Amino acid sequence: MKDSSSCFACGKARLTKDEVGINKKMLGTKIKQLYCLDCLVDYLEVTADELLAKIEEFKEQGCKLF
Ligand SMILES: [Zn+2]
Repeated sequence: MKDSSSCFACGKARLTKDEVGINKKMLGTKIKQLYCLDCLVDYLEVTADELLAKIEEFKEQGCKLF
């Protein structure tokens, strides 16, 4: 499978499923640009820990994006 997801801000390639999922969760499923975890932290002005906690939270809820 060709993976075209890369970070819009820093260009990091091959974003993980978690990273893609949290992008869609936080920014909406129709977003055109994706951010890696580091850039998303800057963009959303949260800490990495907060973001990782959210990913776990969504996983526990059985979110299909993850
Ligand atoms: Zn990035």
